[in-house]
Amino acid sequence: MLEQNYWLTTTEMPAGNGTPELPGPVDVAVIGSGFTGLSAARTLAKRGAKVAVLEAETIGWGASSRNGGMVLTGLKLGVNKLISMYGRERTQRMYAASLASIDCVEQIVRNESIDCDFARCGHLEVACKQKHFDDYARQAEVIAREFNHKLRVVRKNELKDEIGSTVYYGGMVDEISAGCNPARYVAGLARAAMKAGAQVFEHTRVNLVDRESRNGDTGWQLSTSRGPLWAHEVFVGTSGYTGQATPALQKKVIPIGSFIITTEILPEALARELSPRNRMIYDSKNYLYYYRLTPDRRMLFGGRAAFFPENDRTIRRSAEILRRGMIEVYPQVKDARIDFVWGGTLDFAFDIMPHAGQLDGLYYAVGYAGHGVAMATYQGQKIAELVSGEKPENPFVGIPFPGAPLGLYDGKPWFLPLAGAWYKFLDWVS
Ligand SMILES: Cc1cc2nc3c(=O)[nH]c(=O)nc-3n(C[C@H](O)[C@H](O)[C@H](O)COP(=O)(O)OP(=O)(O)OC[C@H]3O[C@@H](n4cnc5c(N)ncnc54)[C@H](O)[C@@H]3O)c2cc1C
Repeated sequence: MLEQNYWLTTTEMPAGNGTPELPGPVDVAVIGSGFTGLSAARTLAKRGAKVAVLEAETIGWGASSRNGGMVLTGLKLGVNKLISMYGRERTQRMYAASLASIDCVEQIVRNESIDCDFARCGHLEVACKQKHFDDYARQAEVIAREFNHKLRVVRKNELKDEIGSTVYYGGMVDEISAGCNPARYVAGLARAAMKAGAQVFEHTRVNLVDRESRNGDTGWQLSTSRGPLWAHEVFVGTSGYTGQATPALQKKVIPIGSFIITTEILPEALARELSPRNRMIYDSKNYLYYYRLTPDRRMLFGGRAAFFPENDRTIRRSAEILRRGMIEVYPQVKDARIDFVWGGTLDFAFDIMPHAGQLDGLYYAVGYAGHGVAMATYQGQKIAELVSGEKPENPFVGIPFPGAPLGLYDGKPWFLPLAGAWYKFLDWVS
């Protein structure tokens, strides 16, 4: 078993700008080269802005190359909860944005000819308890009525057409969701941003961002590991890796580890038995499992096996936890070899919602809570339009963006073991 991101073995990442020096003043400095930052850079460069993307590691190094490649509709919170938090009208706009975000990815893939196995294969949510299944019918009814979007509820006795597992109480299908190879997608997004004129600087960590006017022009001085850069505007797309360079944002983002294993390539008949319709699948728990077949027929099985971000210890421990979880769902793969295990860091806001807009003058988009492939691409584009002076529809701008209760958080998530135990408890009782 290799402790390595399987997707990267299928992908050739483009190289960033090779010049040792950063450019002179730019219109927009983008921090982070994942879906958010690169989607923003592409949109800005296409509008003629001079853009520098600053990436501490390599292109797509963060969650964007490490995820499950599930391009999902919907938000992490349930629709009734959303309506109680934001009211009908804004929730309708949020749901519409979540559907539009899938179209946004599809259009970029098509327009930029990105070879990333994008396919509208739909997603399947499976119920771990009878009461979770009972809730699906209620949710589907609200979603059809309020958002004019159709989900299909699948009873336990019909589930074998969707999944080769008998452990669930039923499911719910959304045909609009898609799957892709995320590393190939982020590589293609980087190529598209560079083709549009954006410069991408790898191994360039932003350490400080200070307000600084130049010749009467307001802007920002960035101190980076490659030297200084002056930018008119700054867009922060650092997600679960948000650090001290942007302290106000860091205090609002909780980094949470998520881990994935993949099996060896499975025989065609077995792969078809496990997932007859090749769905993107996740279960109904808080401490959930998500899984799918890869285009070359491996079972990719992920979960929040440890709450802490990835390191050698959490990755190794997760491999065994996830293997056991996979065999509980699919006893058919008990003898399959595990070829790869890796981890990455997700970004959660305290209210489990995406947030975008301006904080202390810096543009940002964060808080995708495991639904970031489509939403990060979409927010990158929408906030770039805002930076360009346009007025895009974006229901996530302007909603309250809470920090920790009593301000008890400085970016070091000391409460994660408690949160992990709490969610396990909730999964047990609810
Ligand atoms: C294991 C895993 C599985 C997931 N599965 C799914 C899924 O199936 N479907 C889904 O929709 N979502 C999924 N997600 C979530 C999704 O991957 C993320 O929401 C999305 O990739 C976030 O993109 P981003 O561009 O905002 O951030 P990232 O891709 O994390 O990029 C942030 C970048 O910022 C850089 N950076 C940070 N600080 C600095 C600095 N100071 N200077 C310069 N650069 C900096 C980092 O190096 C990093 O490359 C998953 C996430 C993980 C970790």
